[in-house]
Amino acid sequence: MDDNVTDLHLYRADLHIHTCLSPCGDWDMTPRAVTELAKERRLDIIAVTDHNSAENAGAALERGRALNISVLPGMEICSMEEVHLVALFDTITQALAMQEFVYNRLQGENNPDVFGYQVVANAEDEVLDQNPRLLIGAVKVDLNTLVTKIHELDGLAIAAHIDKNVYSITSQLGFIPPDLPLDAVEVSYRSRPEEAGPRLLMGLKIPCITSSDAHFTGEIGRVSTKFLLKTPCIQEIKWALEGKKGRKIVR
Ligand SMILES: [Zn+2]
Ligand SMILES: [Zn+2]
Repeated sequence: MDDNVTDLHLYRADLHIHTCLSPCGDWDMTPRAVTELAKERRLDIIAVTDHNSAENAGAALERGRALNISVLPGMEICSMEEVHLVALFDTITQALAMQEFVYNRLQGENNPDVFGYQVVANAEDEVLDQNPRLLIGAVKVDLNTLVTKIHELDGLAIAAHIDKNVYSITSQLGFIPPDLPLDAVEVSYRSRPEEAGPRLLMGLKIPCITSSDAHFTGEIGRVSTKFLLKTPCIQEIKWALEGKKGRKIVR
């Protein structure tokens, strides 16, 4: 039975991690290294969320299966308002559909010397390619449309690092639009969600999580969010965010 609360387990999750595909991500952040370090640091669920791309998520999923750690494919999308939005999915097919939507609305070419290299790697740490797109750029789509598209693909839409004064919904818009159907907001390692959430949400009832936003190996799991779930999947995390069926965030 779905709502049998006796079947619930505590999962430690870091739902915002970059790999070497992000121009600002360290070379050492290969999908394999990220997954192995997450396992070592006793994370149960991680999400691979590169800037505007999910091309390294498949390799991390493959490695995650071998290591018995749950890897959610995702990406950190930069909206036309220059707001960072974390999109999380269950399957690589969903993540790649979101990627296609993003790529079709993302212009420019990367200059590795200026912005950094964008390395696509496989689960064995072999370099497959370099992504030529300007992944650090903003997608020509507004936040509302991005959230709608993420939901159409059954994903979760989380406003990234709302306590930061760059590329966050609060820094770019000055407030969180009450009609924007976010599944959660995220605060960085600098803030505690139970304190910063209420302050930054200004009365809005949106669940608040914390994730590492790791770009370097030392940062993986520096903060995490504990969820009480039956299984590590998007629907269960959604219920936990909503506090439904006994699922919940555990502080
Ligand atoms: Zn960001
Ligand atoms: Zn990030």
